[in-house]
Amino acid sequence: MKPIEELLLNDALYQKDTFTVEEHELLFNLKHYRGTIDYHCSECNSSSTFEGTNRELVIGGHRIPTFRDLRNRFSSNYNVVEQQLLNQYYFVETECTRDRSHKSMFFFKVTDDTIEKVGQYPSLAALNQPMIQKYRPVLSEEKYKEFNRAVGLTTHGVGIGSFVYLRRIFEDLIEEAHKVAQQEEGWNNDDFIRGRMDEKIELLKHHLPSFLSENKMIYGILSKGIHELSENECLEYFPIMKVGIELMLDEKLEELEKKKKQDEVKKALSSIQSKIKKNEA
Ligand SMILES: [Zn+2]
Repeated sequence: MKPIEELLLNDALYQKDTFTVEEHELLFNLKHYRGTIDYHCSECNSSSTFEGTNRELVIGGHRIPTFRDLRNRFSSNYNVVEQQLLNQYYFVETECTRDRSHKSMFFFKVTDDTIEKVGQYPSLAALNQPMIQKYRPVLSEEKYKEFNRAVGLTTHGVGIGSFVYLRRIFEDLIEEAHKVAQQEEGWNNDDFIRGRMDEKIELLKHHLPSFLSENKMIYGILSKGIHELSENECLEYFPIMKVGIELMLDEKLEELEKKKKQDEVKKALSSIQSKIKKNEA
């Protein structure tokens, strides 16, 4: 079973995850969630800390704040622990600590050994939107929309389609690097066009984010997803594929920031220099 933070913020709807008896404690912590978690508040329109407001467990007037307490109390009868946790729906609510009226809600269906997210508000896409927004400067308008669409589709349980969009973003990064490389002397375009994707990436190594050239298999997995993997497998692998793409875009963002800073300093330096010269004259 995934960690609670991942279940709340990354898990797509209608995707079953299994758990073992050893993970009953995680279930308990989810059902009675009172922790804090940081994410984007769509009503504040900024990052915020959210706090779980689920009620503490009380049985027969006794407070039972932790899983350990529950287990110890019914150590001779584990059935009671199971009755508390299995075969039911969980409703997890969190509140924005900047404004308590901003609430998030998550629903889970729990069986004997599976947990499945069956609802949430705000949508996964809305929670992820600001993270994607960050990449707007390094994506074309079209690719930015497609990145949003990829995340939006997983919210609705569409895994294969979301892989298609991620692969298009990947291909776009390659083509962008290709355009730059073509301007260079000694570039052999025929080799490039004939090459398989991993060969292309090797040829473009110096023009691509290092994370991409070191992790060529991302493309292979995305392609396999489109042709061979099931809808559920794609959904399961999507978060890690997305982070892979984000790491590439992070590198591009850094590069852009650095270039911006360099340009500013260059400009400032030359203005200082011309002032000094004026004073000397
Ligand atoms: Zn808020």
